[in-house]
Amino acid sequence: MAQPESLNPAQLEVLELLGATPEERPSFDPNLRVELKTDLEIALNYLAEVIPEDDILFVGKRQLAQVMGCEAKYLAELEGDFEWSIPLARGTLAHKAIELSVHWRGDKNPIELTEQTLAKVEFDEAPLGRWLQSLTEADRAELQGEVSGRVTAFLECWPPLKREWRPAMESPARVEIAQGKIVLAGKVDLALGRASGNVAGKVLVDLKTGRFSPIHRDDLRYYALLEAIRIGTPPRLVATYYLDQARFTPEPVSIAMLHSTIARVVDAIHRMVELRYQDHPPTKKPGPTCNWCPALDTCAEGQAHLANDAELHESGVAITVGEE
Ligand code: SF4
Repeated sequence: MAQPESLNPAQLEVLELLGATPEERPSFDPNLRVELKTDLEIALNYLAEVIPEDDILFVGKRQLAQVMGCEAKYLAELEGDFEWSIPLARGTLAHKAIELSVHWRGDKNPIELTEQTLAKVEFDEAPLGRWLQSLTEADRAELQGEVSGRVTAFLECWPPLKREWRPAMESPARVEIAQGKIVLAGKVDLALGRASGNVAGKVLVDLKTGRFSPIHRDDLRYYALLEAIRIGTPPRLVATYYLDQARFTPEPVSIAMLHSTIARVVDAIHRMVELRYQDHPPTKKPGPTCNWCPALDTCAEGQAHLANDAELHESGVAITVGEE
C-alpha cells in the first residue's frame, strides 16, 4: 500500500479533504431522523389519495432535476423506454471497476480492471449485460476506452482507498413516504467513513467529468437527506469530484441544507403529481438539455433555441458561462 510520501499532490489534496479532526465532526440531534421524515410526511402524505392505486411515484436525482428543469422533457422521458447507451453505461461501469480496484491484489492496471469489469457484467447482470453483448466491436472498444480513462483518472488522483475508510461504491438509500406510494431513492457514487453515534463521519462523493453544474450540488444534498433519514446521523461532508480537473467542490452538511433540500424535494414532487395525475399542462424551459430531449422533433421552442444557439456559435458571439 502506498505510503503518504509517495502520493502525488492531487492525491494529497484528496487525503487532506477527506480527513477530519474530532472537532471538525459535527454532532446532530438524535431526533433529527424523525423530524426530517415527519416534515416530508406532513407535506406529502395526502398524495397517497391522489396517486393511483396501481402506481408508485419513484423519485431519484434524475427525476428531480428533470422536473425542476423543463417539465415537458420530464413527461417525454417518462413516456419513453429506458435504454442503455455509452454515455449512461460508462459511469456505471467505471464505478464498478473502481470498486474492483479497492479489493484488487497486486498492480491496479486500469485496462485490466476495466476488462474484468466488462466481462463480469456481461455475463452476470441483465439488462446492462445484454446491452453489452449486443454492442459492435467498435462500440465496445469505445466504451472500454472511456471507462478505462475514468478509472485511470481516479487511480491517478485519489490515494489508494484503505479498507478502514469503509469505501462503498453506489451505496443505495431509500425512503418511503405516503404509505409507500412515494419512493425516494438514490445511489451515491462513493461513500467513505461512518458516523459514530450521533457524530457525523461519512463523506459522500459523486465522481464527474466536465464542468461544474448546480445540479451536481443538488444531487449530493439529496443524498445527504436520504442518508440522514436512513441512518439518523447525516454525512459530515458531500463533494463532487471532477476527475478530468482533479478538483473537489465540497460542502459541509448542515441542518439548514437538509431543510432546504426537503423544500426542493416537496416542490418537485408536487409538480410531478400535478403533471402525471392531474393533467396540468407542462411548462417548457429550453436550454442545453434540448440537445438530448426525446420531444425535440415536435418542440418548436426547443428547435428555435438550438437554432439560435448554433447561429451564435457560428458568429462567434457565444460565450461559455459557468466554470469549466
Ligand atoms: S426540446 Fe427543450 S424546450 Fe422542448 S421539451 Fe425538450 S427540453 Fe423542453
